[in-house]
Amino acid sequence: MLYLSTRGHPQRKRFCDILLEGLAPDGGLYLPERYPQVDGALLTRLRTAYHEQGYAELAFQILQLFIDDIPDADLRALCEKTYTAEVFGTGEIVPLRHLEDGLWLEALSNGPTLAFKDMAMQLLGNLFEYELGRRGEQLNILGATSGDTGSAAEYAMRGKQGVRVFMTSPHGRMSAFQQAQMFSLQDENIHNIAIEGVFDDCQDIVKAVSNDHAFKAKYKIGTVNSINWARLLAQVVYYFAGYVQATTANDQKVSFTVPSGNFGNVCAGHVARSMGLPIDKLVVATNENDVLDEFFRTGVYRVRGSADTHETSSPSMDISKASNFERFVFDLLGRDGARVQALFGTALGQDGRFDLSADPAFAEAARTYGFASGKSTHADRLATIRDTHQRFGVTIDTHTADGVKVAREHSTPGQPMLVLETALPIKFAETIQEALGHAPERPARFAGIEDLPKRVQVMAADVQQVKDYIARHCD
Ligand SMILES: *Cc1c(COP(=O)(O)O)cnc(C)c1O
Repeated sequence: MLYLSTRGHPQRKRFCDILLEGLAPDGGLYLPERYPQVDGALLTRLRTAYHEQGYAELAFQILQLFIDDIPDADLRALCEKTYTAEVFGTGEIVPLRHLEDGLWLEALSNGPTLAFKDMAMQLLGNLFEYELGRRGEQLNILGATSGDTGSAAEYAMRGKQGVRVFMTSPHGRMSAFQQAQMFSLQDENIHNIAIEGVFDDCQDIVKAVSNDHAFKAKYKIGTVNSINWARLLAQVVYYFAGYVQATTANDQKVSFTVPSGNFGNVCAGHVARSMGLPIDKLVVATNENDVLDEFFRTGVYRVRGSADTHETSSPSMDISKASNFERFVFDLLGRDGARVQALFGTALGQDGRFDLSADPAFAEAARTYGFASGKSTHADRLATIRDTHQRFGVTIDTHTADGVKVAREHSTPGQPMLVLETALPIKFAETIQEALGHAPERPARFAGIEDLPKRVQVMAADVQQVKDYIARHCD
């Protein structure tokens, strides 16, 4: 299995090479040359693997279709080490919870940081440690976070051989719970850097450091952001796990609704569907930052400026552009790298938008690829959280609420609709309080984390200071 760039670069790479890389050399994103196909017999084997051997075996069987440069025994051991009931809270790893006729929640948020990002990041941590060990190399991960990504990365990389994490975050702007999750880690290879500024300042610093090629090479700087192919691949697995739990036979179809920001989660659904998993619809749910909903309704993709990016109560979906969207557009345009380069490399840079409304390919987004979309606002979120609590006794988080609201607009009678639960309510307690008049339940292991000693370095929004800090902590 070889990987190519969405912008047409002729180079082809193997899985472990792109594992430790970010963008392709031409600025594109990596995708496999073709999607492995799952026929009825293989789907039955995957169904049996999940029900009889568990999620880790299902993960191994799917991953090995895409990875041929890690021996099977090692890959299986990595999956077994990652997807355990101890780490993810249940033996099913991603259990379904019934809400109402045809509507289910797929629980993806019972990992160490209580957001679905653990599903991929925990595997990434083990893959990184394995591959760096094999090469005898080190990697220093530099990132910027407004909450969920940073904590998922830190909990995945803590204590890992060969890896250090330098995670910048906007000083005083994350929720108390999120700060406590990250800053209470005492592991020596985890460095929290609180930047006196906003999230964009953190991202600018990461970009500036990464653009200093000499520094980047000398200090072996890498990333774990959402465009990493291995993260996407790990997410493909839970679409299969959801499907085999919601169905009893392979001629049944299900739909998924996915609370979306950078289009990473739902792009994994697109990969699963392209492999032949019987998915009817993939519904993209956005909040007030409706870049993606606008595209699927109109064919116009228009990135927002920072002034037009809303701060919402589902903050992990507050994006100005959807960084994984290019992967889907590459498939939609018949894998024409030159056109993707013209749209994402040229048009977006010049005009901040492109328009596919008149292109025959646009109709295929719904017809061939099953995409639909919808949008949810703060008022919708409050109403959905309240309604779900009253009618079903279930408290959902703000992002999942966006999903439930939009899912109801697209459900088909008689067909299961699975809403991906992307975080637990305790992470966004303020809005739950606003909706329900009381705080959400806190899992016992997080009792009192706000009072633990904090390990964090506060710094000005200054690239040089961050570089100096990295250099000091890298020998
Ligand atoms: C990251 C995140 C999302 C958005 O996922 P994408 O893969 O960026 O589309 C949604 N909800 C929560 C809670 C998240 O942490």
